[in-house]
Amino acid sequence: MERTMIEVFGARVRQARLLRRMTATSVVGLAGWSNARQTKIEKSPTILLSFHEVERLAELFRFPARFFSSEPQSRVSAGELLFRAPKSMTVGEQDFLATFASLAGDFLGGLDEMSKLPPVKIPSVSDEGPRRPSLVQAAGRLREAMGLEPDEPLDDLMYEAERLGAPVIVRRRAPGEWESEFAATPGRARDERHLGYSSWVGRHRDRPLVVLRETESWERTRFTVAHELGHLVLHSRAYCSVNSSEELEANRFATELLAPVAAIAPELPRVMSLLNLKPLKDKWGLSLGSLIMHMRDSGLIDAKRAKMLTTQLHSRINPETGHTWGMTEPGWNERDPERPRLLRKWVERCYGGASVPMLAARESLIFPPDLLDWFLATQRPSPGTDRHPVAASAGSSGAVSAAPESMPQVVRLDDFRRGKTP
Ligand SMILES: [Zn+2]
Repeated sequence: MERTMIEVFGARVRQARLLRRMTATSVVGLAGWSNARQTKIEKSPTILLSFHEVERLAELFRFPARFFSSEPQSRVSAGELLFRAPKSMTVGEQDFLATFASLAGDFLGGLDEMSKLPPVKIPSVSDEGPRRPSLVQAAGRLREAMGLEPDEPLDDLMYEAERLGAPVIVRRRAPGEWESEFAATPGRARDERHLGYSSWVGRHRDRPLVVLRETESWERTRFTVAHELGHLVLHSRAYCSVNSSEELEANRFATELLAPVAAIAPELPRVMSLLNLKPLKDKWGLSLGSLIMHMRDSGLIDAKRAKMLTTQLHSRINPETGHTWGMTEPGWNERDPERPRLLRKWVERCYGGASVPMLAARESLIFPPDLLDWFLATQRPSPGTDRHPVAASAGSSGAVSAAPESMPQVVRLDDFRRGKTP
């Protein structure tokens, strides 16, 4: 056994190290080989390692040994993520996010081989050059792809994204994680910019993936998904990180996707106040803060009025939470945050269940249990299993007719928006 040599992919060793947020130097110390050896292993397309060396890597990185000899499919680098890293973000954290996307991409690729994932129907306008449509038109195209009427509020945005072939992963916060970044800007935690990122994954980089951090705010969850869809529609083909003006574009795309200007203009209250805007928030499913920005950016209100409203938002105290309305707006607890379900549905379809220990034990799966848990922990159960998830805004938006009480409020993915699907 000692003499057995195993062919290992260098990129896998690097991925495992980056996912564990370890530096090459710390690995050298723990693995007991030289720096040069570590570099050689990581840089080699493939390299023969002894059984013991592979065991050591597996132990060190808490990955199944078979991971290292499986060929990497998605190779997303930190510079290719569709997001702008905040200044406070370390290179290690960016590498972690890219590695996470790569491994999720490989996981999705495996599922796709067993049972075809929904085809990608997210329109891209990024290669249309100077004739690129406006943000309003681009958001309109995505709404059209979703089968929505121009004046129809979006019900469950995450569901729509997944139906158009863009799986969503909501990553649960691990103990001790992210705190360093929040610590840098106390009180701004709810404000922080990279609640999500997106990327194209898979061998051919043809599968969009949206990754979010878990948050209890339904407003931020929805907005972040809409923002990431904006990147995928507007900035996709470059495969490179986006700049600050593109971040603003994605924000404007997001608000237009959720609440098209043409549809909300006739609904604006005569007396402009936060409370009078609340019904619009409820109907269209976006925060008052986003709504104010949206009205300002699209010229429905002037900058002075927008500033006044924003100031009010950030000075009123929500008695339920003790925070300002800027942090917890009226209606903050009136919906559950949207959660994805595609991955779990496909895992159940392909493997007959979505329990992490069961999956981790499968010889064909190369991922460690905690990574599988990141992929699956926040996924909603499939219809007809544990419980009946209720569409986030069912009932709260007049345009969507709710199912009678006696019927399960859940439809199969394929039947969702039946009759409107192209
Ligand atoms: Zn962004």
